[in-house]
Amino acid sequence: MYQYNPKSMVAEEFINHEEILETLKYADENKDNLELVDSLLEKAKNLKGLTHREASVLLACDDKERVAKMYDLAEQIKKDFYGNRIVMFAPLYLSNYCVNGCLYCPYHLKNKHIPRKKLTQEEVKKEVIALQDMGHKRLAIEAGEDPVNNPIEYILDCIKTIYSIKHKNGAIRRVNVNIAATTVENYRKLKEAGIGTYILFQETYDKEAYEYLHPTGPKHNYAYHTEAMDRAMEGGIDDVGIGVLFGLDKYRYEFAGLLMHAEHLEAVHGVGPHTISVPRVKRADDIDPNEFDNSLSDEMFCKLAALIRICVPYTGMIISTRETPEVREKIIRLGVSQISGGSRTSVGGYAEEERPHDTEQFDVSDNRTLDEVVNWLMKSGYIPSFCTACYREGRTGDRFMALCKSGQIQNCCHPNALMTLKEYLVDYASPETKRIGDELIEREIENIGKDAIKGQVREQLQKIENGTRDLYF
Ligand code: SAM
Repeated sequence: MYQYNPKSMVAEEFINHEEILETLKYADENKDNLELVDSLLEKAKNLKGLTHREASVLLACDDKERVAKMYDLAEQIKKDFYGNRIVMFAPLYLSNYCVNGCLYCPYHLKNKHIPRKKLTQEEVKKEVIALQDMGHKRLAIEAGEDPVNNPIEYILDCIKTIYSIKHKNGAIRRVNVNIAATTVENYRKLKEAGIGTYILFQETYDKEAYEYLHPTGPKHNYAYHTEAMDRAMEGGIDDVGIGVLFGLDKYRYEFAGLLMHAEHLEAVHGVGPHTISVPRVKRADDIDPNEFDNSLSDEMFCKLAALIRICVPYTGMIISTRETPEVREKIIRLGVSQISGGSRTSVGGYAEEERPHDTEQFDVSDNRTLDEVVNWLMKSGYIPSFCTACYREGRTGDRFMALCKSGQIQNCCHPNALMTLKEYLVDYASPETKRIGDELIEREIENIGKDAIKGQVREQLQKIENGTRDLYF
């Protein structure tokens, strides 16, 4: 039997089944222990996070007053670490060729009727131009796992193409990568190609469920998948993004596993996950989410997000267009720091006039354009940010975390958010969005603490108005 050890490099020791079962038992026994719950909420106010055991007690607690306090605290922590900024990104699907048999994904090998498509470099260029013309600066590239059709060399070629395109005032300044678990050598190549975050969702932390849901293909190997982030870090990638595909297995189990994964990365590498994603399984081509009986209510989904914010306060949290505008509105307030906008989840989808559905990975629930999302965020009091400065300035991994944990990240993030929003407003926004945005920037400049910085930001904004691009602190 495996022993729980967060410092171990063996999947079943740092994500330990018995430890999770013990944790859930402890949570059940203590969920009505309001003294303990109050002490945990007090402890969380120190912004040092909570352990998976403590967090699981909060998740199990259903005392209305305490749950309201959890939401308030999540909102406060979000403000302390991330202010009112929301970073924008878009996914870019490169290829839906895949040799795996994932039961929840329409790209699975046995799906013979979905058209298979892999972008040529010329097509990548078209997609990137379309994304730049929307105003995007940050992408997450996505591909199925297929060593013949999508080898690492193909992914590297695509990254090179993406970074090379400068269309009008556009540029993609950060490429995050969401591809299957791979070798240290390949992670090193991705690092050398200048990627931002390496993202890999665990899907489920429960080994038995994992093996059932991934019956065939290389992804079947639970240990290889679960240990991928350690290999990525060994390959020199500083920023890794983890996540669970909620709705596949029991959410309380997944939540404990997710926090144990974060604790493991912190214990071994001295730096936790750069981001945590909270996707939920969606209807897609031959996939019916109702076949998975662990779906999660919107209410519990929001509570989970709030608790991730409380328990891992320094980590960015990502929500995609899998969620409706209503859920996105609620969850952003509780701790999400990054959202996608104007997304298309089909291979080659951006270059098409109409949203194509034939090669889609999942149904999108938020169909608004990027301009509509930016407009909506600003009306709700947020600053949409297109900033990519941290990673380009070498503020990655433990350097980023140290700055974030000390609260200092705000000093550059807030001005950078305003300057990149200004670029968006000048180059891409509709007249109404531009008007709202310019007013927002005027108001937000006043929230910059230091007069000297205020002056500098005003100067930079003027330069952007006059045509200079890519200014940042
Ligand atoms: N192929 C890579 C892998 O296996 O990790 C990553 C790319 S895959 C395109 C990105 C993610 O989409 C998967 O990790 C999974 O969590 C999610 N996904 C797959 N099918 C989905 C569905 N029906 N609804 C929502 N998300 C889904």
